[in-house]
Amino acid sequence: MKIGFIGLGNMGAPMAANLANAGHDLTGFDMADVAVDGVAMAASATEAVQSAEVVITMLPNGQILRAVADEVIPAMTPGAALVDCSTVDVDSARAVAEQAVSAGLLAVDAPVSGGIGGAAAGTLTFMAGGSDAAFSKASPLFDIMGQKAVHCGESGAGQAAKICNNMILGVTMIATCEAFALADKLGLDRQKMFDVVSTSSGYSWTMNAYCPAPGVGPQSPADNGYQPGFASELMLKDLRLSQQAADSADADTPMGQTATALYEQFVEQEGGLGQDFSAMLPRFEKRGRS
Ligand code: NAD
Repeated sequence: MKIGFIGLGNMGAPMAANLANAGHDLTGFDMADVAVDGVAMAASATEAVQSAEVVITMLPNGQILRAVADEVIPAMTPGAALVDCSTVDVDSARAVAEQAVSAGLLAVDAPVSGGIGGAAAGTLTFMAGGSDAAFSKASPLFDIMGQKAVHCGESGAGQAAKICNNMILGVTMIATCEAFALADKLGLDRQKMFDVVSTSSGYSWTMNAYCPAPGVGPQSPADNGYQPGFASELMLKDLRLSQQAADSADADTPMGQTATALYEQFVEQEGGLGQDFSAMLPRFEKRGRS
């Protein structure tokens, strides 16, 4: 398949490389001067999408996605699919899809989970929104770049699933970290805390699979000085998107709101920038009640 790929950063580059390795014909474009094995680089986004059957975007945010969409949609071949894998706000995802469909294109919003490791290994999970025809067109490519793709509904449904999942993740990480810090102050051994909680009703992915306490549970960023993993600023980005969506849909999300405020404080004032999102634990360790 002839594929245009726009945004070849930490995630986009390995995703594009996997598609090229699988035998697809890839033309890429990025604002930065990048080179990716097997991908021919174009001089502009418009050039990268010329006669492509599928165009994939992997960009930083909704504003940039809208700008790139304005540029490439008129240059795409009718019937081709625009597949956005970036994490962006639901409103931008829906607006871009509407613009693409009005131009006779298929559109899918398909944010991913699995991070840079998953992108390199081809084990991402895709959460997709769009018509059945659009999802079917992108599906074989999801199978190469990932291990699972869920068709969540119409346009925007992929982004909705992604930010709801990550709102749970942020809230749960904070709850797990504050419970460890409380357990410390109550004199409870961290290993015993893990042994009990990981097999009791407080268990969660953050406790069982990604434990924020070093030396406890399976290997995680906590065992590596809290190097990401999943950086706190990316968690903050997703939490902010969840609150933007909650505002726009008039949904009451007090825990999501609190988690957003805590990660904002952590990233912007407390040195959390560049640290894994589980570094909330050492943050809580240092603090008292007031
Ligand atoms: P990144 O900053 O490494 O890559 C983004 C790329 O887009 C950069 O190479 C940049 O030069 C390029 N770019 C920016 N504006 C452009 C434009 N107008 N035209 C062409 N290229 C442009 O970011 P990333 O980590 O690859 O993340 C990409 C997306 O994936 C984000 O939306 C992010 O939230 C999401 N995501 C990231 C992770 C992760 O672990 N990094 C996990 C899941 C989802």
